[in-house]
Amino acid sequence: MVPVIALVGRPNVGKSTLFNRLTRSRDAIVGDLSGLTRDRQYGEAKWEGRSYILVDTGGISGDEEGIDEKMAEQSLLAIEEADVVLFLVDARAGMTAGDQMIGEHLRKRNKRSYLVVNKIDNIDPDIARAEFSPMGLGEALPIAGAHGRGITQMLEAALGEFPQDEEEDALDEEVAEGEEAKRIPGPSEKDGIKIAIIGRPNVGKSTLVNRMLGEERVVVYDQPGTTRDSIYIPFERNDEKYTLIDTAGVRKRGKIHEEVEKFSVVKTLQAIKDANVVIFVMDAREGVVDHDLNLLGFAIESGRALVIALNKWDGMEPGERDYVKTELERRLFFVDYADIHFISALHGTGVGNLYKSVQASFMSAITRWPTNRLTQILEDAVREHQPPMVSGRRIKLRYAHLGGANPPLIVIHGNQVDAVPKSYSRYLENTFRRVLKLVGTPIRIEYKGGE
Ligand code: GDP
Ligand code: GDP
Repeated sequence: MVPVIALVGRPNVGKSTLFNRLTRSRDAIVGDLSGLTRDRQYGEAKWEGRSYILVDTGGISGDEEGIDEKMAEQSLLAIEEADVVLFLVDARAGMTAGDQMIGEHLRKRNKRSYLVVNKIDNIDPDIARAEFSPMGLGEALPIAGAHGRGITQMLEAALGEFPQDEEEDALDEEVAEGEEAKRIPGPSEKDGIKIAIIGRPNVGKSTLVNRMLGEERVVVYDQPGTTRDSIYIPFERNDEKYTLIDTAGVRKRGKIHEEVEKFSVVKTLQAIKDANVVIFVMDAREGVVDHDLNLLGFAIESGRALVIALNKWDGMEPGERDYVKTELERRLFFVDYADIHFISALHGTGVGNLYKSVQASFMSAITRWPTNRLTQILEDAVREHQPPMVSGRRIKLRYAHLGGANPPLIVIHGNQVDAVPKSYSRYLENTFRRVLKLVGTPIRIEYKGGE
């Protein structure tokens, strides 16, 4: 499970500056989910082979006038959901009552927290640390977020103990001709296909989970102890194993959670990350709204296989249905590879059909294609439509091999590959998708330069 780090602290201590620096890494996904979650910002970042989710809280003011209630509530929830809290204070401002209030809370919650003394540029770090030592939160980590100082030590402390991301199984060994071994990525064969049910609040996720599990032919196994995050439900259908990741499961943990909606972005991001296939649920009665697109953006970035379910299709007028279909075409053109199902989770209509798409997209995502097959497709594509010339020399693309699965990563070797235009990559991607008949999964293409 990807660790979650929350940045907390008074306003102006430098949280968003640090957030931006950390999520600027190559793998960052930062989306605007305000409105779904009030003032929090979410991003994904990677450090030393460890992916993590970073949450920037709105900030707990806690100044002389007292706490800003709403902001505090959100920040407290972020603290609850985090594995590690980085508690930022401002070395220039010195310790304030607000800092003490937050420190007190963290000590009481017994959360794994680090006191991060920010803005130590132009200030002696030892003096800054000493000033905050009465906080009783252990050794302070001095940083200057705006200048990138102390960041490595801080991340080492926060993330060092978490395991590195699971390596993709070595895929570069040659696959024999004609052999397209079925393979489930990762050490999860016992889980079968992991399906995450994702969507905004109230689109019908819980209803769909219950419907999928309540179907005839479904055998649900005892649930192992539920995790803090989502609920993992292993089951079997027509001899195929699945694990459903239920992000909507309502569980209450103490006062804070009872007041808050069951929807959680952190849970959603973690579930997407841990799944093989995402079923993305939308409410047909509301059409495609911006928050759908933002959440969908996370799912696409993650590279997971994708199935789209337009729920609450029951009782809609033909005119409304046509309108929704047009909207889908217009606004979801960028995921034209995903199957779309029109379903009623409430009545069960169309729910069984989801499995076909889940299986097809999963197989597309994990099938191993032999190098000679991929190279043949590349050669044909190049013959059909040559890559452009760069400073008088034509870009040469020589061969292709599979570098990873779920999503499929196609590694293309050649010369002057840095100059391959986006439009040409898009052309290759479409060609691979068409010839290999890949459905429901994004494809990644990576170039390797030759001598
Ligand atoms: P937030 O409200 O906690 O998110 O704080 P911001 O990230 O918006 O930063 C508040 C102010 O502190 C801004 O003017 C930043 O430029 C400044 N700041 C952030 N990090 C540093 C730092 O490392 N050194 C100095 N001197 N200023 C910083
Ligand atoms: P979640 O927040 O995404 O888990 O949504 P819920 O499953 O709790 O559903 C939200 C509301 O939508 C509930 O009142 C459901 O009864 C209703 N709902 C869910 N699926 C359907 C459907 O297929 N048709 C109709 N008409 N209502 C539905």
